Amino acid sequence: MAKQTPTVGLVSLGCPKALVDSERILTRLRSEGYVISPEYDGADVVIVNTCGFLDSARAESLDAIGEAVRENGRVIVTGCMGGDADGIRKAHPKVLAVTGPHQYEAVVEAVHDAVPPVHDPFTDLVPEQGLKLTPRHYAYLKISEGCNNRCSFCIIPQLRGDLASRPAAHVLLEAERLANAGVRELLVISQDTSAYGVDLKYAASSWRGRDVAARFADLTEALGELGIWVRLHYVYPYPHVDSVIPLMAEGKILPYLDMPLQHASPTVLKAMRRPANQEKMLDRLSRWRTTCPDLAIRSTFIVGFPGETEADFELLLDWLGEARIDRLGCFKYEAVDGATANAISAHVPEDLKEERWQRLMARQAEISSEILAAKVGRTIDIIIDEIDVDEAVGRSQWDAPEIDGAVYLPDSAELPVGEIVRAEVLGVEGYDLVARPV
Ligand code: SF4
Repeated sequence: MAKQTPTVGLVSLGCPKALVDSERILTRLRSEGYVISPEYDGADVVIVNTCGFLDSARAESLDAIGEAVRENGRVIVTGCMGGDADGIRKAHPKVLAVTGPHQYEAVVEAVHDAVPPVHDPFTDLVPEQGLKLTPRHYAYLKISEGCNNRCSFCIIPQLRGDLASRPAAHVLLEAERLANAGVRELLVISQDTSAYGVDLKYAASSWRGRDVAARFADLTEALGELGIWVRLHYVYPYPHVDSVIPLMAEGKILPYLDMPLQHASPTVLKAMRRPANQEKMLDRLSRWRTTCPDLAIRSTFIVGFPGETEADFELLLDWLGEARIDRLGCFKYEAVDGATANAISAHVPEDLKEERWQRLMARQAEISSEILAAKVGRTIDIIIDEIDVDEAVGRSQWDAPEIDGAVYLPDSAELPVGEIVRAEVLGVEGYDLVARPV
């Protein structure tokens, strides 16, 4: 049976700038396979691009919205009047969505929600899951942009603004499309994953016929229903993160948390203006590991932050001995133009930064080899990333691509790339494992 072609109507009001916006919206929708209808009848949804410059223009826009609601019933409002969402909803409570001027992405996403695009593999230039730069079997899933924190060494909030989360349904639809296209592992990313949805006041949106709140725990739980590996990156140790640990213990999402902690000394953390407290962090880690003994923590640390004393650094080394972070990256502090940390006077000399870096990495090498040695003899799942001559190279659930270790499977060139296989861990090589398929 032929697929129903989604059809969109558009009423464009106002100046030439609004007309150009309308053209852009239509161009994007047309390229996604939507048909543009000149009539209210036959359109699955109608966009009204409004003008709000003068009172008379506002009145005309409200009339046009009213007419579209009467004639078609399914209306999305955008354009200059979109900034007054409350006023529009008061006059026309039935409108499906309201977006502001120049918010092409938001209008298009509202259309996707109202009438999902239909992918046609014979005519579409772009595959349904979009164009990806990662291998076919894993994909990054960005759930928000920007950040509400103000860490003193970082200028991301200046560059990308405050936290702006995507509605849960948008994230989940993208995740579903990726899973349907053969992706076996989703890497959930953002600047601050655990803060997801704060800016949306956790507003729910509809996915698979039910409401899903834009909340870290709810989104994670829903992603866990897809039946593929889900890995969480950039999670801060806020108390509500506790709620996803049982999902890891149940195997719904991977027992892995990428949690950039940066330091352990309270003085340095305060100067960094980091959102965490290391003492409570040790308690929290221990509780998490009781719930999910297989949990792997990946973290990054900075040595040589301005003002870091030998005592601060030793505190960090001791803390690492207790925390036993599974995977660790360490950076020597570098002054970034525009970061407030540059104003802290006591900068650490380069040779001391280097010495601290060496000491920290040596400490971590001991911790890591003990952690990895405990895996020998276990039979685990491994996702195969590539075949290198006669060896398969994969990753365990404790390893993210590019940043963590690998699992080498000698004489296993027949293993299918992108599939998850069972293998027995035979040994440890540095930060990597060697295994044999079972
Ligand atoms: S380091 Fe991360 S949490 Fe801190 S301000 Fe930058 S993006 Fe936000």
